[in-house]
Amino acid sequence: MDAHDDAGVIDQAEGKCLCGAVTIVVAQMKPHLDICHCDMCRRWGGMAFMGISGKSFTLSGEEHVTSYPSSQWAERAFCNTCGSNLWYRFTPDDHYSFLAGLFDLPDNIGFLQQIFIDEKPGYYDFVQQCPMKTGSEIIAEAEAAGHIFPSD
Ligand SMILES: [Zn+2]
Ligand SMILES: [Zn+2]
Repeated sequence: MDAHDDAGVIDQAEGKCLCGAVTIVVAQMKPHLDICHCDMCRRWGGMAFMGISGKSFTLSGEEHVTSYPSSQWAERAFCNTCGSNLWYRFTPDDHYSFLAGLFDLPDNIGFLQQIFIDEKPGYYDFVQQCPMKTGSEIIAEAEAAGHIFPSD
C-alpha cells in the first residue's frame, strides 16, 4: 500500500460470470493481480488463483450468488447458475478479491505478488517477475497486521 499503488488505477471495470446472471462493477480497480498457488485455491479453480480488487464494487444478480465458507476467515463465492467462481473474501477485513477472468482487463496488468509459492506444483511457472512469498511468510505478514489464524 504505497503511493505508487495509485498509478494505473482503473476507474471502473465491469465483470460478469459465464451466463451473465451476475455482474460486478468494481470502482478504482488496482492494476495488478494477486496470485495464490495454495492447494485450496487450485482445487477450487482448477489452477492458481488470480485475484483483482478495488476500492468498492456493486453487485447485480445477488440471488444467483452462493457463498461457501472455505475456512474460518474466508468465503468463496460462485454463480449458482453457471458455476463461475466470483470472489474470495477475507472475512476479517471484509476484503474481496475477484477472479480476474470475469473482467476484460488491459494487457498491461501486472502481478503484485505470488503467494503460497511453496505449494505451487512443478508443472507450471509464470514468467512475470514479482515478489514470491511462501505460506508461512504470508501468514506471518497477516499476523503482524493483527490477524489470528486458528491452527488446523
Ligand atoms: Zn452465471
Ligand atoms: Zn490460495
